Amino acid sequence: MSESIFTKIVNREIGANIIYEDENHLAFLDIAPFEKGHTLVIPKKEYVTIMDMSEDEFLALMSVVYKVANHLEAELDCGINILQNNRVISGQEVMHVHFHVIPRLENKNLCYLKNGTKYLNNEVENYTRRLKLN
Ligand code: AMP
Repeated sequence: MSESIFTKIVNREIGANIIYEDENHLAFLDIAPFEKGHTLVIPKKEYVTIMDMSEDEFLALMSVVYKVANHLEAELDCGINILQNNRVISGQEVMHVHFHVIPRLENKNLCYLKNGTKYLNNEVENYTRRLKLN
């Protein structure tokens, strides 16, 4: 099986705006953010759905999601949505487990995640710096 785009990010084969890393997890800014600061939290190990993970691995991942959500809320003074899709039918596009941690700054419809925004010049670097946890 070929490796996922997120495994390529883990292995530094392609770039990403990483805001958190530990031995088993990575958090980086979504390339097509719903709002600026929209972050993906992933296990480094390439599981397709959360049901492929052990409960301990899932709980460890949730702990990072919690940390990132708290951090974004404090930094951006925003609401937060946490979203996670399993299998194509649920909207999963990247077949590597990821949690979306999404800042909410204005009232727009989250049902359609693509109804998003774009970073302007240098903004993505500023957000990366601002939201770094370690
Ligand atoms: P999902 O529909 O839950 O599978 O969402 C996949 C997410 O991954 C989308 O929000 C994409 O914008 C995001 N994404 C895809 N490729 C990259 C990438 N190279 N770097 C950052 N985010 C990405």
